[in-house]
Amino acid sequence: MTDGTRNGRGRDAVVVGGGLAGVTAALALADAGVRVTLLEGRPRLGGLAFSFRRGELTVDNGQHVYLRCCTAYRWFLDRIDAAALAPLQDRLDVPVLDLAKPEGRRLGRLRRDALPVPLHLGRSLATYPHLSLAERAAVGRAALALKGLDLADPALDAQDFGSWLTAHGQSARAVEALWDLVGVATLNAVAGDSSLGLAAMVFKTGLLSDPGAADIGWARVPLGELHDRLARRALDSAGVRTGVRTRVTSISRYGNGRWSVQVPGETIETDAVVLAVPQREAHALLPDGALDAPERLLEIGTAPILNVHVVYDRKVLGTPFLTALGTPVQWVFDRTEASGLTGGGQYLAVSQSAAQDEIDAPVSVLRERYLPELERLLPRTRGAEVLDFFVTRERTATFAPTPGVGRLRPGARTKAPGLYLAGAWTATGWPATMESAVRSGIGAADAALRALGRPRPRHLFDVEEAA
Ligand SMILES: Cc1cc2nc3c(=O)[nH]c(=O)nc-3n(C[C@H](O)[C@H](O)[C@H](O)COP(=O)(O)OP(=O)(O)OC[C@H]3O[C@@H](n4cnc5c(N)ncnc54)[C@H](O)[C@@H]3O)c2cc1C
Repeated sequence: MTDGTRNGRGRDAVVVGGGLAGVTAALALADAGVRVTLLEGRPRLGGLAFSFRRGELTVDNGQHVYLRCCTAYRWFLDRIDAAALAPLQDRLDVPVLDLAKPEGRRLGRLRRDALPVPLHLGRSLATYPHLSLAERAAVGRAALALKGLDLADPALDAQDFGSWLTAHGQSARAVEALWDLVGVATLNAVAGDSSLGLAAMVFKTGLLSDPGAADIGWARVPLGELHDRLARRALDSAGVRTGVRTRVTSISRYGNGRWSVQVPGETIETDAVVLAVPQREAHALLPDGALDAPERLLEIGTAPILNVHVVYDRKVLGTPFLTALGTPVQWVFDRTEASGLTGGGQYLAVSQSAAQDEIDAPVSVLRERYLPELERLLPRTRGAEVLDFFVTRERTATFAPTPGVGRLRPGARTKAPGLYLAGAWTATGWPATMESAVRSGIGAADAALRALGRPRPRHLFDVEEAA
């Protein structure tokens, strides 16, 4: 690994954790001329957004999407030369199928027009069939009230979004058919379990900032192609030394101000350390005195996401994705091409956020629950044969966006000079997303560069300017 004495003072850094936060921090530091070693415990980069092989298929651990307003993640995709592999829709268009009506399935769409905010959503809301006229008008009023909230007001974080919606005239149906439809997928919690601050951030940024802000992007290739292979290529050409299967067991500070990073069988000496691991691991690795109240990291809860994967022998879904009401099914994505499936079948990934009730259910129970629901949702499945059915479970997919979580999230700087924190769970203002991870990585690299006296690379995404 790296030899600190060879590199000279102020010139080297170790990044611990090869998720999106760590990869971003490593790239940003290396682009500024710092000699970087990136250490990842698993055999691959990408952290919580990865792929694996299952027979002929390449499977994502969970469907990931991003929005046009995720400007830092888009910068990251550009930086690793992957933007073309995860394009955005030209214009927000989400098919919403309601199965609850006795008269049968009903399709609505959430779309935008080429009009300024908030008129860009006006026509879609006015014709959204899953809400009554009165509910649509009330949604419009609540959206305007949301727009008026000051995201810098810490009091928002202490309140829950569900109570705020009720206080602003939102019916249970409006919460289900609109607010939770978007909120559960982006926050990984229902409105009643979400901080008003985080929910307001999501809705203001995604729906009420720029007309195109909520246009949806997703990878047309396996996530591992982006976050592992292409990320690794970018790291290699930036000169980063990457060690996978290299779990850091402790970090400590020498009397001379340099840091010692311990991996099995080796000690690495360095000027700066970016700890880009989940909050629990960060707590375990943080040296005494690095944070005023390190136990707060353990108070940050986690929330699960379940993905149900079904391979049919024929095409059953005619759109790239859809979302549903009146069924446990949340979002369904066509992953056929990305997975490499050939031969005329179709591979669907059903993405279930805030899946606390189902995350431990046996596959047989989930199969009995989801196959009939998919038959109700997609009539073409009725004559189709199920060639494969499996699930992926991420029990700690995100931090739980509960009211009060904001005061638990630390910033990039610690009290220990030369030690920085990154991760989607740190204080980025964003919920646990790829965007938050990338922003945190840039924030940590910025703080480290300042301390190391290195100029920030001109092309580096500017978190503060974008705020
Ligand atoms: C199923 C699922 C669906 C999701 N859907 C979306 C979505 O649609 N859109 C979106 O934006 N986000 C989504 N997310 C969230 C997103 O994936 C995460 O917020 C983001 O990837 C977190 O990145 P990170 O770098 O902060 O952390 P992580 O990805 O957790 O990376 C931390 C890394 O540190 C490594 N590590 C831990 N301890 C050590 C150690 N001691 N030594 C070395 N390495 C260590 C871990 O192995 C890991 O690779 C989803 C997540 C899941 C699981």
